[in-house]
Amino acid sequence: MVILSSVIRPLASQLHRHLVKHTKSHRITPVRRCNLIACSSKYVLSQMHPMWQGPLAVPGGDRQSPIDIVVRKSVFDSELKPLVTEYNPETCQQIWNNGYSFLVEYDDTTDKSTLKGGPLQDKFRLCQFHFHWGESNAWGSEHTVDRRLFPAELHLVHWNSDKYSLFEEAVMEDNGLAVIGVFLKVGKRHEGLQKLVDALPAIRHKDSVVEFTRFDPACLLPVNIDDYWTYHGSLTTPPLTESVTWIVMKQHIEVSHDQLAVFRSLLFTSAEEDVQKSMVNNFRVQQPLCGRTIRSSFSPFLQEAPSAEGDKHTH
Ligand SMILES: [Zn+2]
Repeated sequence: MVILSSVIRPLASQLHRHLVKHTKSHRITPVRRCNLIACSSKYVLSQMHPMWQGPLAVPGGDRQSPIDIVVRKSVFDSELKPLVTEYNPETCQQIWNNGYSFLVEYDDTTDKSTLKGGPLQDKFRLCQFHFHWGESNAWGSEHTVDRRLFPAELHLVHWNSDKYSLFEEAVMEDNGLAVIGVFLKVGKRHEGLQKLVDALPAIRHKDSVVEFTRFDPACLLPVNIDDYWTYHGSLTTPPLTESVTWIVMKQHIEVSHDQLAVFRSLLFTSAEEDVQKSMVNNFRVQQPLCGRTIRSSFSPFLQEAPSAEGDKHTH
């Protein structure tokens, strides 16, 4: 177990209790936290969730996330297979404001919604997805590509159901989790996302949960899921365990400014608190690569790499 700063320890122990207890309806999921290297101004840090306002001396380990993906240094691996997602929208259960993000949670008691292939040897079960976003469109993602920041990032969290019997077990183990990361850019309204956006006002406050069913998370994936980067990393929220195979999509998805504005209308705080705090900048500070290799399923030298200028690449 990692050593946590005094500021985040209470939260971590709370998380741990939840993990051990595993109440299905209020599971705490791998929340991830972050800060941005390219944007680590005091201004941004000062806006961060209380959970991250302490010293950023976060636990040891040399496989922490998130990171900056340096395209030129990523290594093309022709052995990386296409990803195979089999999501059953019927496993979607509820949406929950956990005080740091909102989680769309799936029934993971059976292998009805799974992820295989790509860099994975085993089958992984979807348990939830969530987002990280900024207070403006200038930042918000946890990962960056050549230091480029995106306004938001989607994380689809899966656990290894071939090796483990519960998420809570997998989260503490090597090769326990597989998380797909998808960058969001501001552009056209995302029709698939809208059903989710429409549900958010009902969970404005921390700890609100509402039923949310029949949502196919595949609609949030980019058209091209064959091109991705992958590396070994950690959760970006406590317990920050280094149990994650990250699969970060090269292609982003587009959402409208208005849709992101609804994300920002959520609150970190519960209805009882006197001072309400907008849920923004819920990302973790970037972590050093520490000699890790980022592999890509595509060759950046054969295809146009995502540029800092943005949208010019097509897929
Ligand atoms: Zn996340």
